[in-house]
Amino acid sequence: MVAKEKIDLLRKKIDEADAIVVGGASGMSAASGFVFYYQDDEVFRKLAGGLARKYGIHNMFDAFYDRRLTRGEHWAVVLRTIKYIYDCHTGDTYTDLAELLEGKDYYIVTTNQDAQFYRVFPANRITRIQGDWRYWQCSQPCHDNIYDNHTEVMWLCDAIQQDALPDKLIPRCPHCGRPMAPWVRSREFLQGTFYHREMKRYMNFLQRNANRKTLFLELGVGMMTPMFIKEPFMNMVYQWPNAFYATLNPQHALVPKEIAKKSLAISDDIAIILKQLLSKSTAGMKEFNVKEAFNPARVY
Ligand SMILES: [Zn+2]
Repeated sequence: MVAKEKIDLLRKKIDEADAIVVGGASGMSAASGFVFYYQDDEVFRKLAGGLARKYGIHNMFDAFYDRRLTRGEHWAVVLRTIKYIYDCHTGDTYTDLAELLEGKDYYIVTTNQDAQFYRVFPANRITRIQGDWRYWQCSQPCHDNIYDNHTEVMWLCDAIQQDALPDKLIPRCPHCGRPMAPWVRSREFLQGTFYHREMKRYMNFLQRNANRKTLFLELGVGMMTPMFIKEPFMNMVYQWPNAFYATLNPQHALVPKEIAKKSLAISDDIAIILKQLLSKSTAGMKEFNVKEAFNPARVY
């Protein structure tokens, strides 16, 4: 439970704000129970299948980056993960945030690739900095286009044999014939027309609100990529006369001293904070345990 004074202050800042810039990251999904990226849980075991034991891997991040997996095995874990992203439930943190922002002038920028924000918020109010699993791009990339992969993912998942996608079924670029790749940040991540259009929409929102009473709401941004959300938020709060920074983060609720007077840090479970902000019951909720969830040897 978070101290009432902090909840009341944040609620007041939300109510008073002319505009709210939400920066949502992995902590939002982790607080909703999507921890298979970091943990050996039931979802991870289902998605990894026999590969978990074969390679001694314990979470989906390790599965994505393990070089020992064959190309077909790598595709199998990627396809199953994307199918799960299409089929899973909508996290409580997302529905609660939508309720909290109802009627406000807000914009969301996210490093999440799991598309949970799209379940509850209109697409024209979201910018994804690191892509979205629901699209393919050419792995070269040889051309500037991304492709909806829903239909293909569904049937390719059914075609997986012994935890591997047969080579001949690997999706190919319609232009150059190289393998396609998920449109998520990597060495070949496509920052083309689509990406820049979304970034421009976000920049326009920021420009419109530079002198208004703007609340920057940071939700679960980790230290793997602080340069996308966390640091720009801090810089804008420092420079903008009427901005305020709120960080809701069980692991990294950091506030530089330069903006301490314009900031609020709540280092607690995001799911519980959102419930408290909405005056909803938190009875029976298990506090998100950072040490249990994250591997200390990896930066998220
Ligand atoms: Zn190509």
